Amino acid sequence: MAKIYEATLSGWGNYPKAKGKVVVPFGISDLRGSILPTIIPRGLGRSYADQSINEGGYVLDMRPLGRFLSFNGERGLLRAEAGVSLDEVLKVFIPRGWFPYITPGTKYVTLGGMVASDVHGKNHHREGSISEHIASLTLLTPSGERLNLTPNDEEFWATVGGMGLTGIILEVEMRMRPIETSYITYRSVRVRNIDEMLAVFDDNDPYYTYSVAWIDCLSSGKNLGRGVVMFGEHARLSELPKSLARKPLFYRRKLKVRFPIWAPSFLLNDLTMAVFNWLYYTTHPPYEGFVDYERFFYPLDAIDDWNRAYGRRGFIQFQFVVPESDTMVRVLERIVKHGGGSFLAVLKRMGKQRGYLPFGMPGWTLALDFPIKPGLFDFLKPLMRDIVAQGGRFYLTKDALMDGEIFRASYPDFPKWYEIRRRLDPEGVLSSNLARRLGMDSPSGI
Ligand SMILES: Cc1cc2nc3c(=O)[nH]c(=O)nc-3n(C[C@H](O)[C@H](O)[C@H](O)COP(=O)(O)OP(=O)(O)OC[C@H]3O[C@@H](n4cnc5c(N)ncnc54)[C@H](O)[C@@H]3O)c2cc1C
Repeated sequence: MAKIYEATLSGWGNYPKAKGKVVVPFGISDLRGSILPTIIPRGLGRSYADQSINEGGYVLDMRPLGRFLSFNGERGLLRAEAGVSLDEVLKVFIPRGWFPYITPGTKYVTLGGMVASDVHGKNHHREGSISEHIASLTLLTPSGERLNLTPNDEEFWATVGGMGLTGIILEVEMRMRPIETSYITYRSVRVRNIDEMLAVFDDNDPYYTYSVAWIDCLSSGKNLGRGVVMFGEHARLSELPKSLARKPLFYRRKLKVRFPIWAPSFLLNDLTMAVFNWLYYTTHPPYEGFVDYERFFYPLDAIDDWNRAYGRRGFIQFQFVVPESDTMVRVLERIVKHGGGSFLAVLKRMGKQRGYLPFGMPGWTLALDFPIKPGLFDFLKPLMRDIVAQGGRFYLTKDALMDGEIFRASYPDFPKWYEIRRRLDPEGVLSSNLARRLGMDSPSGI
């Protein structure tokens, strides 16, 4: 029998919050019985805003579905239940010489959440988003049907990036990458401005699988875009110095460090800046050599509950992609001039992405945090419209601000996606605050 309790939930940004009932299933048979009007699956709640909350409805906690099911070592194919976390995958598979092809910037996500958001990593421009590395999915529809989907099925492409609105992902079959070591051959370059940054990306991207830049948002004028660009490649055993080669494959256990309190609002800017400043400088000095995977992929996971640094009012993450670097630079200029955002912005190059609701497109994606403050939305809303007018779009799993109009203008295949969703969920049982805000649960998108 499933357990049900009332809770106020939010995403990682602690904004917005919603009261609902959480259903905790004890097994798959419980799931069939727990499809109630309305419900949304939830993994580890690392989406930023209202993606896995459901005011007045039900939220299905997927974490109990946490079993590894099989591994085919010849093909590198892992099959696991959707509630397995990426951290658990790393713990089991890194010591055996396997790593996921795609990883977001935190390992505290579930496989189901990764697929439903079609997450990307620092290698999107070369290896796409996670959907390119999923061999098959098992989807439970609201009518209780269990569908086995592969990339040959349109329901597959509606489910990846479909934000839990096409069904409940029960199982995921994901291709893993063979690795020889837990280390990354790493190069970081400090740059004085955005022109240098883009040139450094161009010069180095052909030689590395991964690239990302951190931009110092306190610099403006001729220093606009000052920051650090980081490149990485999985290190081979033969490349490691003897001291590291003795134990090449390991899962790094984390020291338990926790952000102790909700930061009071009067401390907010200084404290937030200090935390990020510290992370920035300690984790990314100019360097050429080897770093372990944890430091390269998950620097933010070093501190539990770091989202409390933004205080109880919470924050939003503003992540957009635009096709042209000039547009990205103009948006950065406006944000830096306005202030009030995070100390750092994260810049990545993107490539093509398939699916009906893909975030990625060839171009540049920039992500910044903004603590919730009066006047913030008045600044961001017009900026969002300009970004969309320049062919850009916002990332569904992070967005807190789009409305139906901005969403439909930037996701042109929404009507096709909606038709597939309507077939899978004709009664509109699957819904979330995000779905209602963007009109994803109605044909006109309103
Ligand atoms: C510090 C940090 C860094 C991040 N970096 C990146 C990054 O680099 N790249 C990137 O792409 N994302 C990034 N993210 C976002 C994160 O990867 C996604 O939001 C991911 O979906 C969160 O997974 P979750 O298990 O917490 O899912 P939740 O947040 O609980 O849910 C996210 C969505 O998935 C749906 N869902 C969850 N489980 C299922 C299921 N079993 N079946 C159907 N639908 C389901 C939910 O309904 C919801 O719509 C980052 C987030 C944080 C906090």
